[in-house]
Amino acid sequence: MNKQWQIELEKIIKDKKRLLSNPADLLSYGFDGSFGQYQPERVVQPINREEVADIMKLANTFGVPVYPRGQATCLSGGPLPVRGGIVLDTCKMKDKLTIDSENLTATVSPGVITSKIKEAAEKEGFFYPPDPSSAHVSTIGGNVAENSGGPRGLKYGVTGNYVLGLEVVTPQGEIIRTGGQTIKNVTGYNLTQLLVGSEGTLGVITEVTLRLIPKPKSRVSLLVVFDDLVASGKAISGILSSGIMPSAMEIIDQHCINAVERHKPAGYPVDAAAILLIELDGHPKAIEEEMVEADRICREIGAREVQTASDEEDQKKLWEARKLVSPAIAKIKPTKISEDATVPRSKIPEMFERLSEIREKYNVELVVFGHAGDGNLHPNILTDKRDQEEMKRVEMAVSEIFESAIEVGGTLSGEHGIGTMKAPFMEKELGKIGLEMMRRVKEAWDPNDVMNPGKIFPQDGQTKLVLTE
Ligand SMILES: Cc1cc2nc3c(=O)[nH]c(=O)nc-3n(C[C@H](O)[C@H](O)[C@H](O)COP(=O)(O)OP(=O)(O)OC[C@H]3O[C@@H](n4cnc5c(N)ncnc54)[C@H](O)[C@@H]3O)c2cc1C
Repeated sequence: MNKQWQIELEKIIKDKKRLLSNPADLLSYGFDGSFGQYQPERVVQPINREEVADIMKLANTFGVPVYPRGQATCLSGGPLPVRGGIVLDTCKMKDKLTIDSENLTATVSPGVITSKIKEAAEKEGFFYPPDPSSAHVSTIGGNVAENSGGPRGLKYGVTGNYVLGLEVVTPQGEIIRTGGQTIKNVTGYNLTQLLVGSEGTLGVITEVTLRLIPKPKSRVSLLVVFDDLVASGKAISGILSSGIMPSAMEIIDQHCINAVERHKPAGYPVDAAAILLIELDGHPKAIEEEMVEADRICREIGAREVQTASDEEDQKKLWEARKLVSPAIAKIKPTKISEDATVPRSKIPEMFERLSEIREKYNVELVVFGHAGDGNLHPNILTDKRDQEEMKRVEMAVSEIFESAIEVGGTLSGEHGIGTMKAPFMEKELGKIGLEMMRRVKEAWDPNDVMNPGKIFPQDGQTKLVLTE
């Protein structure tokens, strides 16, 4: 028999195609790009802010958990319905994508796919720099909620650096606007940036206003080949301390290179210990000089080879192969655990050494790639969740990755968020009071704990990652 809130929900979403309750649908909304699987009681697909507001009023009255969801590419468990309730799928809210050429802004519905914003901006001669490798499949709502980064974070920053304003439905179902079209805004607390990266725990984003910038005049890419992983880490610091600011500087280790070459050959050197992919953008004369200088620095530090690509097509090929790393390594074993421990840039070589030790110590399939230019590494462990003995070793390896990142002065997450996967380690990084202050913010916004409950904050006494059953 239907519960009272389920009967009330049918009065809000009258279109039966947008209110899902059959087991197959519920199952397919129970996972994301991370690890766990949970079952919601209902899935709703609202098409406007008013429906979202009515759903939140109902959820708040009946104490039903609501889990906002974009395309569920999250790698930390953000949209997982860990306490059942309602999954609120925002993908049908995608009607608005307006470029304002006079103000250099874009106003966008939350379900719009990120790469569409970039395309629309470029048509008008502008640039929307945040470029998560999932940009062709993830939504702007998800990107804002996770404060997603990507290769270009090094020079241009992350999603949050481009969010000027938001329209948000609060956990109580009120519709509010924060920020706006202005580049500067210091009126009171910066609620826009509090909501950015809040992982759907403070409200549902129903519209985003983004800052655009002029499109850089030209671009070149370098592929630098190393026989030693630690040397590649030193080259990253070498280039940055020389005064060059690449728009992207990515590292791919040997395991990932081989996985890409097996998946869809891109011509990456399979015998290299690591490669760096570097992109320089700006005025053609300036990048010409920087290209020569970056080549010299890399060779001095021990690069075996430096290839350059100035042609648009050649560059596209190099970077498309980079985007294939994640799907390619997913083929190594059935379960992929993707981390984004981020360290100060000077600590990249040390972190590489620690990761090699962890790989040996726990005998796990640990591979590394990532946005090395900003210290944001992606150690990934490929495993099989049905093998409980191996999963125990994986649990310990993942915990040690987090601990190592914190010990060298880094952070649990540079861009994937905390979700369920990193919650047990929050106190380690923030301290007791730091974490408590965050809890107080959550309680003030959402006293009935209906907005994405079970995320970010560890459960009482939870200090360990548990991946086994
Ligand atoms: C192959 C691959 C590559 C990736 N590369 C990158 C990368 O380079 N950089 C990076 O940062 N991440 C990357 N990710 C992670 C992921 O794509 C991002 O976190 C992305 O922003 C999630 O968007 P989504 O639409 O899938 O959101 P979801 O996964 O559905 O949700 C993510 C979080 O946002 C919340 N949320 C979603 N929509 C809303 C809304 N409208 N209002 C409030 N809360 C909302 C959810 O509750 C959840 O907590 C990658 C993932 C994959 C699978």
